[in-house]
Amino acid sequence: MSEPLLRVEGLTKHFPVRAGWRSSARVRAVDGLDFEVRAGQTLGLVGESGCGKTTTGRMLVRLLEPTGGRITFEGRDITHARRGVLRPLRRDLQIIFQDPYASLNPRHTVGRIVAMPLLVNGIEPPGGVRQRVGELLELVGLGPEHQNRYPHEFSGGQRQRIGIARALASGPKLIVADEPVSALDVSIQAQVINLLRKLQRELDLGFVLIAHDLAVVRHFCQRVAVMYLGKIVEVGERDDIYARPQHPYTRALLSAVPDVGRLGPTGRIRLTGDVPTPLDPPSGCRFRTRCWKARAICASTEPELVPRDGGRQSTACHFPERGELA
Ligand code: ATP
Repeated sequence: MSEPLLRVEGLTKHFPVRAGWRSSARVRAVDGLDFEVRAGQTLGLVGESGCGKTTTGRMLVRLLEPTGGRITFEGRDITHARRGVLRPLRRDLQIIFQDPYASLNPRHTVGRIVAMPLLVNGIEPPGGVRQRVGELLELVGLGPEHQNRYPHEFSGGQRQRIGIARALASGPKLIVADEPVSALDVSIQAQVINLLRKLQRELDLGFVLIAHDLAVVRHFCQRVAVMYLGKIVEVGERDDIYARPQHPYTRALLSAVPDVGRLGPTGRIRLTGDVPTPLDPPSGCRFRTRCWKARAICASTEPELVPRDGGRQSTACHFPERGELA
């Protein structure tokens, strides 16, 4: 098979912090991730708040320097790429931020915001920058006449469309979208997700969609990776993950999705307790402190992410769930 667009191996980010008497404590925000994204493929990265999704997304587009592991883009190791290498890379790798209020400069016109990746990367579109910006705005459902306006004149959904136009401007091959709709009204979330889906298909983009719930990635992503406390606990084809989740944590997350009728005999699973601190994660399986199936081995031995079902789905659990959701 051909080289994936993006390959992540053992990706790690530890933040040094001062924590009480320990001056050299580390927040193990991301602790050894492996995954791939092929050209034109969509991967959903899902998990509760604090599990390391944003940190992962920022490392992928090199806004954060990884502590360890490797990121390979189109066969090139970009893990610690320096400025000169990063600049052309920024054309290919773009990010859409969670908060469309904070991520657009309020003092710049929409035209300038969307044109910025073209100007920074020295891209000269055939019909000129202004025409290209107009086309990009049309692509995301806004009018070319919006170029002279300022972000505050737009609604949240429209601002996120501006953020999407900016991400598309340089003609990227991979887009990381970090919770692109969670700051928006529920009524417009579906519109923005549908727009992203349409653009992903039309432009054949590789896509990493970060979301805290499985409902958002369901209609978007071909593959889904579930994260818990800095680790991937389950990864596989979307249909398998939704129909036959094997990790208890994936089951619990799915049980929070509104159509609980699907859960059949397992019923609704309510996760109790808080996510433990990544300063001092539990030994063995990190999910064991909240898992109803935990036994002694779960505290002593960390389960590896092993392929099951002929390799379509990988699960890191000593006692994986079997069978379909009803
Ligand atoms: P959310 O959905 O709330 O953004 P997340 O899954 O994206 O959560 P991250 O934001 O990646 O999670 O954070 C993972 C962990 O790393 C959290 O415990 C967070 O407090 C910690 N963390 C993130 N950035 C830093 C930092 N700069 N210094 C110290 N700890 C950090």
